[in-house]
Amino acid sequence: MNYDLHCHSSISDGILSPARLVQRAAEKGVDVLALTDHDDVAGLGEAAQAAEAAGIGFVNGVEISVTWSGVTLHVVGLNVDAGNAELQAGLAGIQHGRRERAERIGQELGKHGIVGAFEGALRHAANPRLIGRTHFARFLIGQGVCKDVRSVFKKYLVRGKPGYVTHEWTSLANAVAWIRAAGGQAVLAHPGRYDLKGKATRRLLGEFREIGGEGVEVVTGSHTPDQHALFAELANFYGLAASRGSDFHAPGEYGRELGSGPDLPLKCTPIWHNWDLTNTGQTRMASKTVPT
Ligand code: AMP
Ligand code: MN
Ligand code: MN
Ligand code: MN
Repeated sequence: MNYDLHCHSSISDGILSPARLVQRAAEKGVDVLALTDHDDVAGLGEAAQAAEAAGIGFVNGVEISVTWSGVTLHVVGLNVDAGNAELQAGLAGIQHGRRERAERIGQELGKHGIVGAFEGALRHAANPRLIGRTHFARFLIGQGVCKDVRSVFKKYLVRGKPGYVTHEWTSLANAVAWIRAAGGQAVLAHPGRYDLKGKATRRLLGEFREIGGEGVEVVTGSHTPDQHALFAELANFYGLAASRGSDFHAPGEYGRELGSGPDLPLKCTPIWHNWDLTNTGQTRMASKTVPT
């Protein structure tokens, strides 16, 4: 079974609509897909419907932006109830912060002679509630400032470069609490990507497990083979299940192709080990037991 439990639609910074994303996933051989847009659940209804039509399993997801010890982290929620009021209120707060951050990014780029960046980025955001750095990247490419998204994230929008601003996202505890309030499982996204030393990574995993986190992405588009092995080991040590996802955004952009990448290492407990997949379409969890 091919599980892809991390990807983005045009509801956040992916390029495909939720329905087209699901169709592409089915074409690429994905059996069970989770749509995990940044800080917004508005694509889940359309995606679930498309998954039913395409005959693949579908899991509601979201990827929540967090600040922990001064570092930006991403926490994926799987099997969340998209209608949960606590989750929705939390995400609305993050969306307001994104908007305000985007205005500051626009001002910073303005200081470097790039005018109209906020408005320009907004034109690339199909969902105006959810504006992020990828939309600025696409604007800068359109202006001929950079040739692709990768080079934008080397020359702009990152620490020490034009267009970088600091931002305080929500806390790790809030993100986990909202996901759990919505009946979901909290999974630490792409742990190998953070600017953390080994010791801090271990502190993070321990704290995450302590406050109710249930899984960690072991196989993700931005991990190397060495990191697959490392995080499989750490997941087991900290009693966390393992997840697998492409982090697909757009063909040839950040992340992998939908459904691609190696299987989870055999020693891992998959985050889906207790899901009930007897129904096609909507995936339900059989129980919420956390592996120990
Ligand atoms: P934001 O949440 O607005 O700060 O944007 C984060 C998003 O930027 C990530 O989810 C990726 O889609 C994109 N991103 C971050 N780093 C890179 C990179 N090095 N290359 C391409 N895209 C990146
Ligand atoms: Mn993204
Ligand atoms: Mn992420
Ligand atoms: Mn992502």
